[in-house]
Amino acid sequence: MVKIKTAEEIELMRESALVVSRTLGMLASEIKPGANPLALDKMAEDFIREQGAEPGFLGMYDFPNTLNWSPNAQVVHGIPNNEPLKEGDVISVDCGALKNGYYGDHAYTFEVGEVAEATKKLLQVTKESLYVGIREFKEGNRVGDVGFAIQKYCESHGYGVVRELVGHGLGTELHEDPQMPNYGKRGRGKKFVNGMVVAIEPMINMGTRRIKQLKDGWTILTADGKPSAHFEHDVALVDGKPELLSTFQYIYKALGIESSEEEEFRHQNLVL
Ligand code: MG
Ligand code: MG
Repeated sequence: MVKIKTAEEIELMRESALVVSRTLGMLASEIKPGANPLALDKMAEDFIREQGAEPGFLGMYDFPNTLNWSPNAQVVHGIPNNEPLKEGDVISVDCGALKNGYYGDHAYTFEVGEVAEATKKLLQVTKESLYVGIREFKEGNRVGDVGFAIQKYCESHGYGVVRELVGHGLGTELHEDPQMPNYGKRGRGKKFVNGMVVAIEPMINMGTRRIKQLKDGWTILTADGKPSAHFEHDVALVDGKPELLSTFQYIYKALGIESSEEEEFRHQNLVL
């Protein structure tokens, strides 16, 4: 059952999302060759607690850490370890926070030093597909419209769209209805209505869409060992249109990246 949020609840959820946004921004300046993932995980935990929130993933379904830390061929749900970051790695970092009873949940794939051009392109297209999908999260559309748009965009670049893992509704629980696949058919599935809040999160592979899981019971990786990327925003449906609750602006500020993608997104939505 989809739980519709009031305007007050959406403001609380914005705060929870921003706790994660700030945490990813803090990590952005720390993710470099030689950095220790477990140390960064502890920094993230402390940083979340300093903001009056709890790590959303720590202990959830018995997950052992604050961050889902998924380098290179790992898709999602990787576990931070003591293996130092290497030049050329890409790391998908997914983070959750619980504040005032509501979850924030979002993710970014970071580059460590200089990354291969083909991998940069995967990250860029995956992030673009996130906004392509979010634009379809509007009144009158359905779950399948978002998935269709993401799938079409990524497959047009020859990438594999992971099927087994999906986005989701978000609220007092980390995973609420509806499920939000990154593939689908136009006009199918649950209809969107104002007050829905979802996490949209394309998980896109450079090669095959097929995945496997490590014996740790968590880590998902690509079946062909090629890189994967993951970007996730929390989005509310307000006045018929998608409104971003999370932001990558803290990351961009830390990395000195000039990006108007979120502004452009908001502008495009005004004229839609
Ligand atoms: Mg997530
Ligand atoms: Mg999620």
